[in-house]
Amino acid sequence: MSLFDHYEPDPPILCPKCGAPLTGWQGKDVHPALFVWRQGVAAPVDQRVDPEIRALPERLATLRVSPEFWIYGGECECGYHFDGSRFGVRCTAPDGVWRTVEIDPPPTPARDAGDGWLQCSECSDVWPRVEGRQLYLCPGCGRLTQLAEGDGAG
Ligand SMILES: [Zn+2]
Ligand SMILES: [Zn+2]
Repeated sequence: MSLFDHYEPDPPILCPKCGAPLTGWQGKDVHPALFVWRQGVAAPVDQRVDPEIRALPERLATLRVSPEFWIYGGECECGYHFDGSRFGVRCTAPDGVWRTVEIDPPPTPARDAGDGWLQCSECSDVWPRVEGRQLYLCPGCGRLTQLAEGDGAG
């Protein structure tokens, strides 16, 4: 049996289809053992195993993620699965604490078209923007799109 760890991006990555938080992220970092890592917290917040084989709390407290690692497998109640064969999620922990989450390669940029609309940079289709959401599936071409960095600020 190959082990993995559970990962909880905080704030959650929102489903590009319906906007609900994607859950079920997994990864294999240093010594995967069903640890639960939460973004912004240094040590695992939990270990999803039977109590008798749990790591001691003292040992859990000393564990850290790698400076760079990848997670995959995010899914949503609506049936959306993050396509790990096309996109990875790169995470960094420059100071030993998981700090950043970034989709790599970057999704197709969507630009703010004004009046609450976003526009796909590939097919020029438009759709309504949802406050706080970065990822969308373009209704025109079906691509995973991401609100361009810094766009919509002004
Ligand atoms: Zn969804
Ligand atoms: Zn499109």
